[in-house]
Amino acid sequence: MNPAARTTTRYIPAMSTTIFIKKLPGVVDGTEPALNSPPTGSETAFIKKPKLGASKKKKREMPEGLWTKCPKCETLMFDKELDENLKVCAKCQYHFPIGSRERIHSLVETCTFEEMDAQMTSVDILGFTGVATYRSKLDAYQKATTLTDAVVTGIGKIGKQRVGLGVMDFNFLGGSMGSVVGEKLNHIIERATEKNLPVIIISTSGGARMYEGMFSLMQMAKTAAALAYHARARLPYLSILTHPTMAGVMASYSTLGDLILAEPGAMIGFAGPRVIKDTTQSELPPGFQTAEFLLDHGLIDAIVPRKELKDRLAYYLQFLTAKKPRAAAA
Ligand SMILES: [Zn+2]
Repeated sequence: MNPAARTTTRYIPAMSTTIFIKKLPGVVDGTEPALNSPPTGSETAFIKKPKLGASKKKKREMPEGLWTKCPKCETLMFDKELDENLKVCAKCQYHFPIGSRERIHSLVETCTFEEMDAQMTSVDILGFTGVATYRSKLDAYQKATTLTDAVVTGIGKIGKQRVGLGVMDFNFLGGSMGSVVGEKLNHIIERATEKNLPVIIISTSGGARMYEGMFSLMQMAKTAAALAYHARARLPYLSILTHPTMAGVMASYSTLGDLILAEPGAMIGFAGPRVIKDTTQSELPPGFQTAEFLLDHGLIDAIVPRKELKDRLAYYLQFLTAKKPRAAAA
């Protein structure tokens, strides 16, 4: 036996690749490899590839949190200016995604918003396990977003009108609709019906929440039923579709509005374009599933830029809640 073969750690320079051989526990130094079983599995090789094109020069790094590049026109903007512009690119009008709290702040009159069901959180009813458990996902997103779930609901004033408001947040598990999203929306719709108030729901969602299986699908029927009772009381419901609004959300409360508005460039649809293309085996028309395409085809009523949304909503609400003038006495 060659003594060199028994060394525990070897460094073998081979071309530009570095090989580290790590000896696993259970192999005693100084014993013949034949005494250790299995001899072939006692060593593991880690091959570290050289980094291609790694420059020796230090990369100049831009300080984070100061600038944002517009993904559409590639203009660099100061974050502060972008925030002041409600996260809309001043050059090309690209609408950046916006969180639920920022959205409420941009629409509702100061100090008029009373949040409802702020502490309602999902439970892992199916005991879902996958790459990560549902519980661990919920914990991680609650910590990262400081939200309890993918929708914030409450009553606030827009212009002079009090409204029941539900605002979804894509940052929380892709704005997916689970039991809590359905239940919170249901509560706010029922509360608005009770108090004779209009309802506004601002949607952004990838669809139903797969971690809750059938329970998330049930939310489609539940919210639709609550909206039917709201409509029976002859109260207006305005649905606002923002980027992206897809699948189960689009197939339920998002498309049930008396008025359906959308933000410019928002992707709106049921199944994704690739699925439709593969199923129908045909080319999709340009601009398919954008707000502009849907407006042309009559599925939505108007596209409203984010900066005009508050005034437009106040106008529509005033119009839709106006009392009928009393018939003049004969
Ligand atoms: Zn831009």
